[in-house]
Amino acid sequence: MKVSLASALGTCFGVKDAINLAMEPQFKSDLTIVGQLVHNRQVNESLKRNGVDLVNGIDDLDKIKTKKVMITAHGAAEKMKEALVEAGHIVYDASCPLVMRVHKTVKSMVEQNYFPVVIGQEEHVEVKGIVGDLDDYIVINNEEDLEKLRAAPTKRFGIVSQTTQQMEKVENLVRKIREMDCVEDVAFVNTICQPTRDRQIAVRDLADQVDLMIVIGGYNSSNTKKLVQVCDEKDVEAHHIEAATQLDRSWFTNKKHVGITAGTSTPEYVINEVHTAILKIAQEMEEMSQATHQAS
Ligand code: SF4
Repeated sequence: MKVSLASALGTCFGVKDAINLAMEPQFKSDLTIVGQLVHNRQVNESLKRNGVDLVNGIDDLDKIKTKKVMITAHGAAEKMKEALVEAGHIVYDASCPLVMRVHKTVKSMVEQNYFPVVIGQEEHVEVKGIVGDLDDYIVINNEEDLEKLRAAPTKRFGIVSQTTQQMEKVENLVRKIREMDCVEDVAFVNTICQPTRDRQIAVRDLADQVDLMIVIGGYNSSNTKKLVQVCDEKDVEAHHIEAATQLDRSWFTNKKHVGITAGTSTPEYVINEVHTAILKIAQEMEEMSQATHQAS
């Protein structure tokens, strides 16, 4: 059984920078992260072990016990940052520059009188940050949501996407929007980030070569779920796991080529553990098959 790693996988620079900032010795036991820094259980557990507190969001303001607070890589609305400062906190901003690019793009579209439309998940912390300072906006996540555009007070729409969306999905929704009779003018900036694109392209290439894909990442990680989705679309068996302990040997029976990929918040050590465990399974299966061959 051959085992291959996707050519681009795992932690992106935005997540790495955010984790490194949170781990700085200056913060020890005096830092609360507002919202999940990354959508990865192992990373959050290791932050907690280092004395870092985590709260879900701005609604948990009264639960923050530290002076210093950190905004996550997913970014936040200016209103939220101001509320934290007003509550007496020192705010450290770990927002990824590629998320901030989306904030700036939307702001500039609004200044040009485009009605803001975000393609993404309304409940995702990144989308909440993007729309958090806007007076009016529409979030769409699928074709049914397109009907929302009919209620907009204009026919000029400025469209961006959550950074971790799937490329084909976004392109398809923008095409459909352009065709709608309630739409006259569309400004679209594709704000899917490069690390997300690289991982989607790499998983697609690898999916063409393998008969099983192991996708590693948090169950609540949007971009990891998209990697599984790409495999589903290619009709390649895929299993989404968070850790090596979840590997099931039965998945590997009669498989010739196994691929491994990981979302942008999956730490390198977790990928290495899974890779090593799969190589071990491959070796044991090879030994078993040789023993059976010799016995017959
Ligand atoms: S997934 Fe993209 S936008 Fe999000 S933190 Fe990583 S590089 Fe930044």
